[in-house]
Amino acid sequence: MKKARRITMTAFASVVFAAMMGTSAFAAPLHPVSHADWMAKKSILSAGQNGDLALDRNVTLVEELVVLAKLKGAPIAAPAKGESWAAPYLAWAKAQGAVAEADFANATQAASSAKLAEVAKQLGYTLSLEDKATVTRGELFNALGEAVTIHITLAHTNDTHGHIQEDQSQKEFGFAKIATLLKEWRAENPNFLLLDAGDTFQGTVFVNQFKGESILPILNSLDYTLMTAGNHEFDFGYEQLLKLRDSLDYPVINANVFTADGKNLLVPTYKTEIGGKKFAFAGFVAEDTPVLTHPNNVKGLTFKSPVEVAKAIVPELKKEADHVVVVSHIGVDIDREIAKNVPGIDLIVGGHSHTPLKTPEVVNGTYIVQDWEYGKSLGRADLYYLGEELVAFSGGLKEYDADIQADPEVDKLVKDIVSQIDSVMNVVIAKSEVPLDGDRVLVRAKETNVGNLIADIMLERTQSIKGHEADVALANGGGIRTQLNAGDITKKNLYTLLPFENNTLSIVEVTGAELRAALENGVSQVETGAGRFPQISGMSFTFNPTKPAGERVIEVKVGDQPLDLNKTYKVATIDFLAAGGDGYETFKKPFFNTGLSMYSVVEEALIKRQVVNPKVEGRIVEVKE
Ligand SMILES: [Zn+2]
Repeated sequence: MKKARRITMTAFASVVFAAMMGTSAFAAPLHPVSHADWMAKKSILSAGQNGDLALDRNVTLVEELVVLAKLKGAPIAAPAKGESWAAPYLAWAKAQGAVAEADFANATQAASSAKLAEVAKQLGYTLSLEDKATVTRGELFNALGEAVTIHITLAHTNDTHGHIQEDQSQKEFGFAKIATLLKEWRAENPNFLLLDAGDTFQGTVFVNQFKGESILPILNSLDYTLMTAGNHEFDFGYEQLLKLRDSLDYPVINANVFTADGKNLLVPTYKTEIGGKKFAFAGFVAEDTPVLTHPNNVKGLTFKSPVEVAKAIVPELKKEADHVVVVSHIGVDIDREIAKNVPGIDLIVGGHSHTPLKTPEVVNGTYIVQDWEYGKSLGRADLYYLGEELVAFSGGLKEYDADIQADPEVDKLVKDIVSQIDSVMNVVIAKSEVPLDGDRVLVRAKETNVGNLIADIMLERTQSIKGHEADVALANGGGIRTQLNAGDITKKNLYTLLPFENNTLSIVEVTGAELRAALENGVSQVETGAGRFPQISGMSFTFNPTKPAGERVIEVKVGDQPLDLNKTYKVATIDFLAAGGDGYETFKKPFFNTGLSMYSVVEEALIKRQVVNPKVEGRIVEVKE
């Protein structure tokens, strides 16, 4: 059956409008699709002797008829003796009323787009071709491919983590610009889906301070098809996740989290029809979610293996739907495991590992896509179905582009949240008996009391993260941004102290030698006030700043024991340093990212402590000889 034409009148109008506004008319698939490729694979096209499809050569009417006959599965007789090879195709097309006797004479010459479109129309296919005297084979096959397939466009986000505002320096879109892109893509293809793969309600003060509720109006305005819950969706307690779900206009699906009585916590799957095809979606979250979040947040819940649950439910979904799509917050490694072990999934839309999949992966016939993090890009996949078969696929990321205009409505919703945050942040959370020495001149040169406080809190926080309990902690002085007076500490004070929303508590395993090298790096530029100067917990060291960089650290102790260069130590740090930032090259290895912002970790600890009185206690000692 022939589908409805792709370009509807509204889409056409918006394309014209977009052209008038000077924006891109057709964002189209992010990577162009060649319909000739799948046609060749299915022997609808045949290549020349050298495998060349001659896509640049002008196409003839009879070449079009060959492809149309194959697409229709028409029985074409062999040519009679003395007849040309083209004769049976012309006879068939004439019998279908697609060509007349008068067309036969020019059938092997280059044909006009009008003629090619007219013939295709008679056989039930509406081609979208520019008005031209000649048409290349590539142009015709692409137009035919568009006409015979059902094209579905799917946009996807993941791990936006409350990054609601545009950030030009970090190259993050913000939701107002994402909204503009979504409007353009929707206008372009009415067969449109929008999916979110989780970690949406937690991350910055703009969402955390409202337990995720502030962002609901934005999400509802974007018109998502569905989302899956990420591990950080459990950070405000699962009851709050259920409350957020009830306020969303679209479903939150998950199939691998169960309540104490063995029922699914959330609806496991969702089915919808798009482009006349039945799609079923299944959602998954990381099995180790309970490791990270406070035990109360997941009390009574069981997190099962996404691979095992997928094995059980995908065959069932295949019975009821034409196509199965997995929306997962489990990281690309486990996505690959699912694809390898569970046949029948067209596409996995992933998250959690913050992986920018600029081109999709294909594992065992299943495509895997993921849209990076923090709204740095917007994911887009274009699926082309010939009947039940996914014959062409384009996937990728529309990366940050400052020139995209903000959608005014969503922009207003974002600004509403930003204006609310001030009053929310003027709340006292703790009291300090001493001034907190976060001044940059101090934290980048020596041990300070607030550096100790923060490093202690980092080390302490890891103790409840099973398997990642750190031995020592190291923060960079550059991440601590202000001096605070003794007295009340408000949320806003703390936010000026730790403003980097992207800095998340992470744990990296290093040898004693690598830890020593990290400390050398930390003091290597102390004379210039570089931000890499370490603030530490669980260890102590002496250094001589008059020695050449790299030879300054004299003695290191972990607890009260000398550092063992061959032993492995777990270091609590921030993800930026664990990724090798600020010169911390020896930290650069696979690390465990808790996804908890430094602000939220320290806020939680201060609320618990109520009164603090941190001191400088000889953790970092400078010697001059
Ligand atoms: Zn996650």
